Amino acid sequence: MKLIFEKSVKERRATKFPASDIPPALELPDNLKRREEIGLPELAEIDIIRHFTALSRNNFGVDTDFYPLGSCTMKYNPKLGEIIAKNKGFSDLHPILPQLPDGNSLTQGALEVIHRTGRLLSEITGMSEFSMQPLAGAHGELTGMMIVAAYHREKGNKKTRVIIPDSAHGTNPASSAICGYEIISIPTDRKGVMDLKEFGKELNEEVAAVMLTCPNTLGLFNSDIGKIAAMAHSADSLMYYDGANLNAILGKCRPGDIGFDILHLNLHKTFGSPHGGGGPGAGPIGVKEGLKKFLPISRVVKNSKGAYFLDYNEPASIGYIAPFYGNFGVILKTYIYILTLGKEGLIKVAENAVLNSNYLLSHLKNYYHLPYNRTCMHEFVISGKRQKKKGVRALDIAKRLLDFGFHSPTIYFPLMVEEAMMIEPTETESKETLDRFVEAMIKIAREVEENPEIVKNAPHNLSVSRLDEVKAARELKLRFPVS
Ligand SMILES: *Cc1c(COP(=O)(O)O)cnc(C)c1O
Repeated sequence: MKLIFEKSVKERRATKFPASDIPPALELPDNLKRREEIGLPELAEIDIIRHFTALSRNNFGVDTDFYPLGSCTMKYNPKLGEIIAKNKGFSDLHPILPQLPDGNSLTQGALEVIHRTGRLLSEITGMSEFSMQPLAGAHGELTGMMIVAAYHREKGNKKTRVIIPDSAHGTNPASSAICGYEIISIPTDRKGVMDLKEFGKELNEEVAAVMLTCPNTLGLFNSDIGKIAAMAHSADSLMYYDGANLNAILGKCRPGDIGFDILHLNLHKTFGSPHGGGGPGAGPIGVKEGLKKFLPISRVVKNSKGAYFLDYNEPASIGYIAPFYGNFGVILKTYIYILTLGKEGLIKVAENAVLNSNYLLSHLKNYYHLPYNRTCMHEFVISGKRQKKKGVRALDIAKRLLDFGFHSPTIYFPLMVEEAMMIEPTETESKETLDRFVEAMIKIAREVEENPEIVKNAPHNLSVSRLDEVKAARELKLRFPVS
């Protein structure tokens, strides 16, 4: 496929404006005038439309087909959220709109949405208060770990370590390390959860926090979680909940009730707003009562007259973490999502996500190695170990799935599973779609036995095949023409 620059034809235009009959108000000084051609592509409108439509068809997305990218919760993004978010009352707002004389700001409605969403998330997770500012899950983790540090600083605690299981997402150790903590990695036991004995050995007065994902990235729930929280608290360590997998337990149990003190949510995962190539994220954090004062400023607060305003007055706050209010569009879509589904609907999300995942697992485990043979939650991890004996790697299987129109699962993560393939169907997929995926996965397993080359050389049906991904990253070329 040609680049849009290669399709350019000199002086072709999408629109032609009549020459201006208004004299320029200001002649630009000579030294500010452009001397060379601007170098933009020159095309007719129809060629532009065709170019970008063709590009969009070369992509995989939730709107094209099943997208089982484990841990990322690529569920369907309801269009209702998009329609309402496009409403001019929301989309034309500017964060520094002036205050009205009566003290109310012109952004009252938006502030109310942020405030109410925070209240709903508090109810859903069992936390006292939320800050909607962090712009992604990883950003929420960083904010949370800064709060951990602020808490211990205030108490005069000298703590230097954070405990994280080896199945954790890489952002967990990264955000702790940025806050200056040493990471203690705990291995996974035979049941697929953090080894309790090893945890007990490492837990001491130096541990500032324990960061857990529950269910974890293997899609397994840790039934010792209450015990772990009690142990951590007895050492005055805070419990941090990585909420990326909240989809599995929505309305079923609340991290706040299990003993977690701080958490982040990934609104773009659990609450159905577009992400990946489709839109920005939001990683609000929730805390228990005693940690409220450390939350970032500004906070959206409701005054006694029922008006909403931004409160900057919190001396113990860790300070600014993002400009203004966070990613408002994502917060708004979350609010719409929660109101649309209601309590019963949110409970169904968790039930169907877990049901769909176990349905897939039960069909695939006869064809692929299953390292932890347990009932899973909303996702599960199989291994391409068996296929590796035929010279086929998880990457090859992932590439072959593209030929069938499916986005591939997450591969080579979590790290302790050899040839890992992490599959998350989400609740929004129908049985028919899941059956098509099972069929493709079984077909690939058969191909590996009978004709492994077809899998090793996949994809066969796409406009580009295997790319040198390392070269693409190391020798990034973003300009055309490339000199
Ligand atoms: C996605 C994810 C994160 C990071 O969240 P982002 O929103 O991508 O920054 C952290 N932990 C887990 C388990 C995740 O799946």
